[in-house]
Amino acid sequence: MASVPFDSRDGVIWYDGEFVDWKDAKVHVLTHGLHYASAVFEGERAYGGVIFKSRQHSERLIESGRILGFTIPYGVDEIEAAKAETLKRMGFKDAYVRPIAWRGSEMMGVSAQQNTIHLAIAVWEWPSYFKPEERLKGIRLDQAEYRRPDPRTAPSRSKAAGLYMICTISKHAAEAKGYADALMLDYRGYVAEATGANVFFVKDGALHTPTPDCFLNGITRQTVIELARRHGIEVIERHIMPEELSSFTECFICGTAAEVTPVSEIGPHRFTPATISETLMNAYMAEVQPKAAAAAAE
Ligand code: PMP
Repeated sequence: MASVPFDSRDGVIWYDGEFVDWKDAKVHVLTHGLHYASAVFEGERAYGGVIFKSRQHSERLIESGRILGFTIPYGVDEIEAAKAETLKRMGFKDAYVRPIAWRGSEMMGVSAQQNTIHLAIAVWEWPSYFKPEERLKGIRLDQAEYRRPDPRTAPSRSKAAGLYMICTISKHAAEAKGYADALMLDYRGYVAEATGANVFFVKDGALHTPTPDCFLNGITRQTVIELARRHGIEVIERHIMPEELSSFTECFICGTAAEVTPVSEIGPHRFTPATISETLMNAYMAEVQPKAAAAAAE
């Protein structure tokens, strides 16, 4: 059964500083963000009523806008308060949090210097379906045709809507072939990331992950690196050639939505989720749980 479309749900959405009825949180068809992809967004997750690394996400949102040449008219503290209040009003403990900022309608051409910058925040319920034994089977990845662009071609450090065009095309192509997702190379031919998650590999007990020099250095990725080091696992960030895939024994992707998800296949290459993937998968799930106030203050 199809779920209720996102524009037809109940609740409230924080919209330019006010709460509006969910169904009324609209933009006009003549909106710069829609025509010219001048929009940036975040993907965050609340566990037990607390958004994991919320502040880092708010900072990244502001930075994403800055990279696209606009200033979101709210500071980190205001965005933090707005997200917390939206979550509270919606009454969710385990939820996805989606802030989006975009250029409005004052000018409708490539140049849009006078356009108002808008910000909206929506949250929706997203229970954590964490089943370690299911996840350890691993997901299958296709090899994407599109590549992550050269930072001189696109603002690759921004979580900008426009950068997701090639992700949706690649993910659709993968799904049409029965895969869960696709692995994208970068403009030089190095292994980059999945369509909405970063990627890690295991070889001889060490973790290898691509250097994030033309794609998002995910907040989950940074968390996984920290957790790995805490567990005494060596982490090597470097350029990885696709020919090397056959030399890795384990592989997993990670992101706010994916959390840590082991991979069993990338095209012709096979991986067996094992100890390191399992350790980090469980360590990540423990890390995202809200800490008691006293422990957090340490
Ligand atoms: N790369 C892409 C393209 C993404 O969309 C995401 C999800 N935001 C990530 C990586 C992982 O980022 P994060 O861990 O901050 O969610």
